[in-house]
Amino acid sequence: MTDSSRLRIAIQKSGRLSDDSIALLKAIGVKLQIRDRLLIAHSTNQPIDLLRVRDDDIPGLVMDGVVDLGFIGENELEEKMLERQAASKRSEFSTLRRLDYGGCRLSIAVPSEFNYQGIQSLNGMKVATTYPYLLERFFIEKGIDASAVMLTGSVEVAPRAGVADAICDLVSTGATLEANGLKEEEVIFTSKAVLIQRGGSLPPEKQALIDRLLPRIDGVMQAKE
Ligand code: ATP
Ligand code: ZN
Repeated sequence: MTDSSRLRIAIQKSGRLSDDSIALLKAIGVKLQIRDRLLIAHSTNQPIDLLRVRDDDIPGLVMDGVVDLGFIGENELEEKMLERQAASKRSEFSTLRRLDYGGCRLSIAVPSEFNYQGIQSLNGMKVATTYPYLLERFFIEKGIDASAVMLTGSVEVAPRAGVADAICDLVSTGATLEANGLKEEEVIFTSKAVLIQRGGSLPPEKQALIDRLLPRIDGVMQAKE
């Protein structure tokens, strides 16, 4: 099924990064036949296989050298890096390109009735998030004594459910926050999609293929400017 001489690229199976990542690959001339349920997709004109997974798994797959490249949001990448550091796991990779999609920010938001008067107002608070490492790093940098409550979903309803006082979640337009009676107060991280490569050297023919693809990515991004 998988052939180690083919370049392996991890992409999000279905979500906010999937369509743009596939569109970019197609735009640089990688023909793909994607069947919805399948984990693997083979290119029909290049020695490239796509591994279609949850975005949470992509940093680990690259850092463990299971795949050669990955398309991932910087937010997820940075969070997983911090998580691996805490567990003393290697997190070797290089960022090849910062891409022009997947833009968002990780922000702290509080209920609209919360009398927010700057980050000091977060002292003693519980903040629900899917990004506990990024949030705790922010608290430490700012000298705030607050705690991160990890939730993998439904973060925006945590204050209403009495689970937390505030949230720290990804925002692009702010419409979801508003719909949940929350106001954005602090941006703690800004993010875009990036293309990353695993650490260590690749077989020369794989590296040569990557080196041919990168200028095409630059060309596609320039054409959109
Ligand atoms: P998966 O099932 O793969 O784990 P997910 O629910 O974690 O999916 P998505 O909501 O599809 O992930 O978001 C994937 C990435 O898209 C985010 O980590 C972030 O980098 C980017 N993104 C861009 N805009 C937004 C937004 N408004 N909200 C959330 N993520 C966004
Ligand atoms: Zn995810």
